[in-house]
Amino acid sequence: MSKVKAEYIWMDGHEPTQKLRSKTKVLSGPVESLEDLPLWGFDGSSTNQAEGNDSDCMLKPVYKVPDPIRGGDDLLVMCEVMNADGSVHSTNTRAHLRELDEQHKGQEAWFGIEQEYTLFEGRNPLGWPEGGYPAPQGPFYCGVGADEVFGRDIVEEHLELCLDAGLEVSGINAEVMPGQWEYQVGPLGPLDSADQMWLSRWLLYRISEDYGISATLHPKPVKGDWNGAGAHTNFSTKAMREEGGIKVIENACEKLSKNHDEHIAVYGAHNEERLTGLHETCSIKEFRYGVSDRGASIRIPMQTANEGYGYLEDRRPSANMDPYKVCAILLETTCS
Ligand code: ADP
Ligand code: MN
Ligand code: MN
Ligand code: MN
Repeated sequence: MSKVKAEYIWMDGHEPTQKLRSKTKVLSGPVESLEDLPLWGFDGSSTNQAEGNDSDCMLKPVYKVPDPIRGGDDLLVMCEVMNADGSVHSTNTRAHLRELDEQHKGQEAWFGIEQEYTLFEGRNPLGWPEGGYPAPQGPFYCGVGADEVFGRDIVEEHLELCLDAGLEVSGINAEVMPGQWEYQVGPLGPLDSADQMWLSRWLLYRISEDYGISATLHPKPVKGDWNGAGAHTNFSTKAMREEGGIKVIENACEKLSKNHDEHIAVYGAHNEERLTGLHETCSIKEFRYGVSDRGASIRIPMQTANEGYGYLEDRRPSANMDPYKVCAILLETTCS
């Protein structure tokens, strides 16, 4: 029996934004289900998840996909972090979404997340002149040509890897700021969309390594007159997707308007640098929703308004948001 390499991936305790960590476990295989993947430990004192004198944390496999980089029977395994006694660790944000998912199953919630990110080569965004600036924004969004897009080789390879891993990526595009890109995951149920988002991020970081490039999810990677990076979260319930759903969507927007601050609190660190009211954003201090309005907090897509049912787009989450937290609070606010 050939060995199986399982890459155990988890979220650390880094503040204010949790980061991904991973290490490889070699198993005797075969691995057919999650139950075939053992619990594993790690040194939590090196990840801001424990004190040195009592440092063991536990990795509990919760989601697995084929490893598209190593190939064969190898796996990528998303894990929840548990305390040594098996209870939920304080940095485990998935556990709460797991409960809400169970509670609101009947709503059949779907999430489609647009992940924007920026490629950096050393201190500069990829394709930017050393120590200077490229031409002003305008031609880069969905652009083509060596003078307009930078990093397409990485982007294409990332897309291929995501699809090989079975992730539900629905598209990619070059963004407004040169060196900035987007991919979309979903629509999927709450846990699937959030797990897949974390795994797709891991693949992005991992494949960029091979090019000597680093991908960042900072919401405002370059200060000034340059677009920030968001993670627009498209959301619907079964009732929103059916005849007359627009009423349910408007009702959800009203609920969201009353919980703006609670949402902003979990929509990503440094988001105030991005949500300025400029660059296709609504100010972080305001809440507005509207049809086709890319300057609103929540946009109701034109097609949804025309058909009378569909979904809403929460434009507030920043690129570095934790999808476990964002999906959880959207369910909490709109479904209860
Ligand atoms: P934008 O025009 O904002 O750039 P995108 O095409 O990048 O839109 O992203 C739209 C996202 O909406 C995709 O991730 C897609 O999966 C998601 N989506 C489509 N329909 C639904 C739905 N009914 N519920 C939730 N998400 C949806
Ligand atoms: Mn988009
Ligand atoms: Mn975008
Ligand atoms: Mn969008």
